[in-house]
Amino acid sequence: MSYSFSTPFLRNLVNNSYAFFWPVYEGTPKITEKERRRLLSVIGDRGLEEIDERPPFLLCKGNRKRYYAPLRKNPTLHRSFCEITDNEDIIEFAAKYGMLGFTRSYEVRKRDGSQSSAMFIESIARWKYELADMKQLVYLWELIRNRRLSLLGALMDREDNGIYITLGKRKDVIDDNNSPLARKWDREGEQPLEAALQYLTSSINKKVTGSVFPTALPSYQKKVYLLPRNLMAGMWLMFLWEVIGEVRPHRCPGCDEWFDPRRSTRITCGDRCRKRMSRQKAKHREALN
Ligand SMILES: [Zn+2]
Repeated sequence: MSYSFSTPFLRNLVNNSYAFFWPVYEGTPKITEKERRRLLSVIGDRGLEEIDERPPFLLCKGNRKRYYAPLRKNPTLHRSFCEITDNEDIIEFAAKYGMLGFTRSYEVRKRDGSQSSAMFIESIARWKYELADMKQLVYLWELIRNRRLSLLGALMDREDNGIYITLGKRKDVIDDNNSPLARKWDREGEQPLEAALQYLTSSINKKVTGSVFPTALPSYQKKVYLLPRNLMAGMWLMFLWEVIGEVRPHRCPGCDEWFDPRRSTRITCGDRCRKRMSRQKAKHREALN
């Protein structure tokens, strides 16, 4: 069976346990300024917008790829994504976890027409747009999680027609003046926390609406799977899981990467870091003796 980039799918892992799989193209992605006017195959109906046609582009060769299961293997990937600060980080992230999925492709033929290879491009502007959105909401979530009431209060404004929040350059209405929230509004009290949580969940809900699809498999299984249309939608879904407490991102003390401990006794991301940490501890003890 061959899977095209444009169709997200669930793959059987073991014991009829299915997971969403996503491709990572082999080789290091490049950034190119060139505008590809003659795209042979444009992946349609994947939510592509004007922003996705803006150069520069991240460019991947599509001939060889591997698949992984981000929702299962890396349920804290949205946190790693938020650590991207420049184009180098984008390249590194894409080499490890794949493109976001706002992708167009074209074919390159050898001079003699004997061989062709598929190239995939994705606008850097799209990466920056999604990054800005998620970073702002993760910042807001950290304030909520840590009950930073005065900082939250400072982001909110009660105006004539409702309660507003200002995040970066963006100002959004959270609720109108007839809402229960507005009626008991007290900027110095607990309300900013409630308002922020309302804004956060409705913002992430908007992101997953129309991009994560409930899916049942044709074979008999008593389960409805959530299938994201691309990696970005998958990361918004992870963020939603974090907000409801389903995923709990921790930083590994061994490698500084985000991971979900699942069991509260786990403190590192895996065996490698666990061993490294215990070696360090042993050294530390030796030094003390
Ligand atoms: Zn680690």
